[in-house]
This record gives sequence, C-alpha cells and structure tokens, in this order.
Amino acid sequence: MIGCWRPTPSPIGWGAAARPGIGGAHGAGRRRWCWGWRFSGCSGSRSRSRCKAVMATSAWLLGLRAASWRLRAPRAPLASLVSQRAHSLLPVDDAINGLSEEQKQLRQTMAKFLQEHLAPQAQEIDHINEFKNLREFWKQLGNLGVLGITAPVQYGGSGLGYLEQVLVMEEISRASGAVGLSYGAHSNLCLNQIVRNGNEAQKEKYLPKLISGEYIGALAMSEPSAGSDVVSMKLKAEKKGDHYILNGNKFWITNGPDADILIIYAKTDPAAVPASRGITAFIVEKGMPGFSTSKKLDKLGMRGSNTCELIFEDCKVPGSCRPSSTTPFPTYTQGKPLARRLATSRMSLEAWNAGSFSMLPGLGTCQRVAHMSAHLLLKMNELDLLMQGKMADMYTRLMACRQYVYNVAKACDQGHCTAKDCAGVILYSAECATQVALDGIQCFGANGYINDFPMGRFLRDAKLYEIGAGTSEVRRLIIGRAFNADFH
Ligand SMILES: Cc1cc2nc3c(=O)[nH]c(=O)nc-3n(C[C@H](O)[C@H](O)[C@H](O)COP(=O)(O)OP(=O)(O)OC[C@H]3O[C@@H](n4cnc5c(N)ncnc54)[C@H](O)[C@@H]3O)c2cc1C
Repeated sequence: MIGCWRPTPSPIGWGAAARPGIGGAHGAGRRRWCWGWRFSGCSGSRSRSRCKAVMATSAWLLGLRAASWRLRAPRAPLASLVSQRAHSLLPVDDAINGLSEEQKQLRQTMAKFLQEHLAPQAQEIDHINEFKNLREFWKQLGNLGVLGITAPVQYGGSGLGYLEQVLVMEEISRASGAVGLSYGAHSNLCLNQIVRNGNEAQKEKYLPKLISGEYIGALAMSEPSAGSDVVSMKLKAEKKGDHYILNGNKFWITNGPDADILIIYAKTDPAAVPASRGITAFIVEKGMPGFSTSKKLDKLGMRGSNTCELIFEDCKVPGSCRPSSTTPFPTYTQGKPLARRLATSRMSLEAWNAGSFSMLPGLGTCQRVAHMSAHLLLKMNELDLLMQGKMADMYTRLMACRQYVYNVAKACDQGHCTAKDCAGVILYSAECATQVALDGIQCFGANGYINDFPMGRFLRDAKLYEIGAGTSEVRRLIIGRAFNADFH
C-alpha cells in the first residue's frame, strides 16, 4: 500500500507548496522545518534536494488538489490566553517515532492546517455541542486527501496505510477530540469498511463522495441491549424478493445525525449458531423510506461529534446494498466459529479492529494536555519538582502509547493484525489518556477545574475511549482469551 505513495511532483503541488508563510507546524517561528521556499533548516545541495522531494511528496499526497490552503474556515472569537497557547504546539520528535520523511511531513502539514482551522473552534464546539462548519470542514479534509487515506487511488483515495491514518487521527484529535472521533467513524469505520468488504459497484458509487467530503459516513452495530455483547443485536433484516426490510433500532451512533451513508449491521438469520453467522452489513442511504434518526444525544464529552439513535421502520433496502455476498459477517477469526459468546465482542470483529486504529485516542489527548501543562509550568518560572515529575510521567506515558500504537499500526499495514494487540493498544492508550488528562487538571490547580480552561474537556473527551468501540473490560477479556488460546 505504501508503495502507491511514490510521488510524482505535480505542478499544482509545487506551486502550492511554495506558497510563502506555510511553515512546518511545530517549527513555526523557529525556522526548524522546511516547507515551501524557506529551506531555512537545510544546508548543502543534497539535503536541499531531499527537502524538495519531501515537499513534493507531501504536496502530492495532501492533495493540494484544490489548493486547499486557500479555504479559510471562519475563526471563533476565542481570544483567551489559553487558546493562543494552543497554537504553539510542543513538537513531536518523530525521529524517535521512526517515521519516514513523508510521514513526518504529513504530520507537520496536518498539524499546521488543524491548528489554524480547527483548534481555535474546539472550545466553542464543546460548549455549544455543535460543529457549525462541519460540512465545509469535511470538504477541506477531502481536498487535503486525508478522508480516504486507506482507500485505493482509483477511487480518489491516497492508497496509504493505518499508520498514516493514525497520524492524521492524532493531529485532528489534538485540535479537537470530538472532530477526531467523527473523522474516525467516517474515514475508517464507514469508508474503510466499504474498501475492505464492499463490492465493485458499491465502491464506485460511494467511495468518491466519501473521500471528497461531499458525504459523511457512519457505522452502526450497537443497540440499547447489545453494546459489549454486540451479536445479541435485535435489528432484523428480512429478505423480500430482491430487497430487504429492516426493522429495529441502533443507539449511540457517531455521525448518526449527519451521515449520508451508513453501514448497518442487522440480523438476517436470528436462529444462526453461532449468532455472528446470522448477521449481515447493509449500506443505508439517508432519506431511504422507513429510516429516520432521533435527536442528537447530550453527551458528557466529545461534544460536537453528533451521536444519535437510528430508527428503522419497514425500511426497504435494495439487495445490492448488501456488501459482497462472499463476505459473511466479518469476524476477525475469518469464518471460524467464535468460541464463546463474549469472544464476539466488537473488538473481535474485523470491521471494528480496523476501526480501532482510527479511534486511537489517547495520543491526541495526551499531547494536548502535556503541552498545555508544560506552558503553565513554564509560566510559573519556578519549576516545582513534584510538578516536573508529573510532567515526566505524562510525557513517558504518551511516548509509550505512541510507540505501541505506531508499531501495531505498522504491523497491520504489513498484514500482521492480532486481536490481542489491537485490543491492547487501545486499552493502554485509552486509560493513559484519562490518567494524563487527570494529571493535567492537577497541574492547573483550580484553573484545571474551571471551564474557561480546556482541561475538563480533555478529560471528558478522553473517557470515551474507555467505552466506545468496546470497553476496557472487554478489551481485557480479549487479551486474556488470546493468552489462553496460546496454551491450547
Ligand atoms: C460517544 C459514543 C459514540 C459511539 N459510537 C458508536 C458508533 O459509531 N457505532 C456503534 O455501533 N456504537 C457506538 N457506540 C457504542 C459503544 O460501542 C458501546 O457503548 C460500547 O460497546 C459498550 O456497550 P454498552 O454501552 O452497551 O455497555 P454494556 O455492554 O452495557 O457494559 C456496561 C458495563 O459492563 C461491562 N461489561 C459488559 N460485558 C462484560 C463482560 N462480559 N465482562 C465484564 N464486564 C462487562 C462493560 O465493560 C461496562 O463497564 C458509541 C458510544 C459512545 C458513548
């Protein structure tokens, strides 16, 4: 997949990359990274030409297809000291992270874009529980080429892997956890699911619009009494001639209120043993008769990432909306009966496994908290030793998460994907994200407890990762079971 990303310097790309004033995000004001015609950190012709290659690659990848830098999202009037600080990000040392030049450039470009266009709105999005510019922002992401990171180039995708997906997800989450969650549901749970399991007609029909940002996507498995035990879902799909009739409901669906395209899991054979064999995925379009959504939920965190119930009342779905008939309900164990009921938790589903990479969470939150706290400590002039120790703990947790996440993503890109580590990586980084957010509040003292500061938002956002896409308890069960399986 990575092989597809060999750059051919495009005239548009070069032109756009050479625009003045577009510096590497982390190097802003420091003349550390090269981008465009600055070349400030490059000496010698060899390194200059390397820089040029990286720029060309990045420009090619990130599209600049529609000179997206020209699109400027309106900024919310957040002129507080805190939000200004949020623009001067602590740099991420990607030399330690073992990223390629192209991957580093991808991060820097995304960070620059997101800190300008999304971060200033994050506090307001949370406050009013709405992202007013969602559609416009989605098209900007589409122009940047990051909505279809894992989709083949032939459909307009970038033909890259989970590691690049993680980097983009991390940077979006760093700007706004809520928008990061919506991005994960769109680009991975929905779009990547069609890439992996859709048939050719479905790919041609849906992928280009999901990739360009014209459409918003969602995936729905959970029901009020079928969250962790997802195979006990009740939503029924009955075959009637050349179509299916769906009846039932789904709950807590990310992007539900906004989605144009939804992957819906339904029971086609309620008597099947094991139950997972009687479940099929359908593609449902907004506006299909019999499909409606309830009003969006008022959540603790991830506010502005809209979540709602989906209602199906004799919803007629064409048989052609059923992904490839050769693909049964995609199980991680690919066709093997799943041993026990609990083993069929969502993390053992292939779709969700893939999704877990885009939901990878902790990193964005950890980094946001760490840099906010670092700025506070710097302001204190006198660095209290205990506080320094807390910062050190936060930093090492963040770095440990990062290495685990990146390595599992790389392994999956190479076709080595294990349920144990997919569950492990999200278990560890989700719990670290919560802990780091708590430590961040502590560093801020009373201000950490006041909603003028974003620390509370970081904590509320982080907690979702211990619940959504499978709870920490279920992830532990999966890891435990994998160990047991090793001894049988
Ligand atoms: C903001 C948000 C967005 C979401 N987005 C989506 C989405 O886009 N699509 C989608 O399909 N779903 C989505 N979900 C649903 C989410 O995946 C479920 O909430 C999650 O799987 C847990 O299910 P549950 O809430 O029913 O908890 P339950 O299964 O009721 O669990 C309750 C508690 O019991 C524990 N528990 C359950 N079973 C066991 C067991 N066997 N052993 C030990 N402990 C156990 C759990 O760990 C948890 O602590 C979202 C949820 C949230 C909050």
